Amino acid sequence: MKNNIKDDSIVQIERGKILREKFLVFGSPLIEQPEIDEVIGSLKSGWIGTGPKVHQFEEMFKKYKGVKYAMALNSCTAALHLSMVAIGIKPGDEVIVPTMTFAATANAVIHAGGKPVFVDCQRDTMNIDPDDIERKISQRTKAIIPVHFGGRPCDMDRIVNIARKHNLKIIEDSAHAIETEYKGKKTGTFGDIGCFSFYVTKNIVTGEGGMAVTDNEDYANQIKILGLHGMSKDAWKRFSDAGYKHYQVVYSGFKYNMMDLQAAIGIHQLPRVEKYWKRRKEIWDRYNNAFDNLPVFVPAAVEQNTKHAFHLYTLLIDIDRLRISRDQFLSEMTKQNIGVGVHYIALHLHPFYQKTYAYKRGDFPNSEWISDRTVSIPLSAKLTDGDVEDVIGAVSDAITIT
Ligand SMILES: *Cc1c(COP(=O)(O)O)cnc(C)c1O
Repeated sequence: MKNNIKDDSIVQIERGKILREKFLVFGSPLIEQPEIDEVIGSLKSGWIGTGPKVHQFEEMFKKYKGVKYAMALNSCTAALHLSMVAIGIKPGDEVIVPTMTFAATANAVIHAGGKPVFVDCQRDTMNIDPDDIERKISQRTKAIIPVHFGGRPCDMDRIVNIARKHNLKIIEDSAHAIETEYKGKKTGTFGDIGCFSFYVTKNIVTGEGGMAVTDNEDYANQIKILGLHGMSKDAWKRFSDAGYKHYQVVYSGFKYNMMDLQAAIGIHQLPRVEKYWKRRKEIWDRYNNAFDNLPVFVPAAVEQNTKHAFHLYTLLIDIDRLRISRDQFLSEMTKQNIGVGVHYIALHLHPFYQKTYAYKRGDFPNSEWISDRTVSIPLSAKLTDGDVEDVIGAVSDAITIT
C-alpha cells in the first residue's frame, strides 16, 4: 500500500458525484441463452426433478476435476454436511474450521453432531494458518476443513502433512475455488472429499446448487444415498420409462438432491468456466493497477505455482489512517450505486458461536483485523468495462472523503 495519492491511474471524478444510475448488483451472474433454452427444455420435457441432466452435469464435473466420483446436491452446505456424516463425525468429535469463513462451514460440523474448533487465518492470504491448526488439535480432533478463501489455495502441503501426522480427514470447502490449483493439482482433490458451490454469486452458478467430489467409493455411495432420503442407489430412476423399481431405505437420509432445472444451467456454465475466469482476471488486474496509489490494502499477490480462482476482490480499508470507517465506506459505495459485500465478519464474532462455544473478541487477532476492514467489490464476468471503471471511481471517491 502506498500512502501518497497520485491521480495518474485513477479516474478523475467530481467528489460525491453519482457515477451511475443503475445499481450494480454484487455478484450478479452471467446467464447466457443456451442455459435459458435448456431450462425451458427441461420444463417442457416434464422431467424437472433429479434426472438425466443432473447425471450429465456430474459426469462433466467429474472430468473437469479428474476424480472418480461427483455427486450433485442442492448446495455446498449440503455437500459439507454429508461429508461430515460420511467420514463419521459424531457427538464429541472436533473438526478444525477457520473462523474467517462463511457460517455454512461450521454449521455443517454442528449438524453432524460435532464441534467446530476455530483457527485463525494468515493476515495476507486470509487462509487458515497451519501453525494455529497444530495448536488447536486435541485427542478429539477428527478432521480439518480448509477453505480456499476468495479462490486462493490454502497451504495444502502443510495441511496434508498435519492431517497425516495426526490421522485426520480433510474436507475441502472449495465454494470459492472451482478453478483453483496448488502446485498443478486442483483444489477439492487433496483431501477425502471436496465441496463446491454453484450459488448465485459463485464463479459458475445453478441458482442454488453444490457438488461433492471424491475418489473414495464408500464416501461416494453414502453421499449419493444420504442426499436422497437414504433411498438405495439410483432411486431417482424409479419413475423412468425403464419401469417402476422398488427402493430400499438404508439410512435416515436428507433431501439434498439437485434438480434437472438446476443442472440445465450448470451444463452450459461449466464449459465457460475458463472464459469467465479470464474475464475476472482482467478485472482483477485492472483493480490492482487502479488502487495502487490509494490508501487501501489490495489482495496479496498470487503465489508462485498456484492458480487463484479470483472469486473475491477484497479491499482492506486502512481505518487506522483514514477518517472513514469500513461501514461508512460500504454506505458510500451503496450511495454510488455499487453493490458491495463483506467476506467475512469472522464466525467467532457472531452471537451463536460466542454463546455456544464461549469465543470472544481477542481470540483470533488476524481474523478480527480483517473482519474490521474488509470490503468485497464486484468481480463478476458479467461486468462491462464501464461497470469496472464505475467501481474504481466509486472506491476512489469513497476512500478520499475527508
Ligand atoms: C457460499 C459458501 C458456502 C455455501 O455454499 P451454498 O452452495 O450456498 O450452500 C460454503 N462455504 C463458503 C466458504 C461459501 O462461500
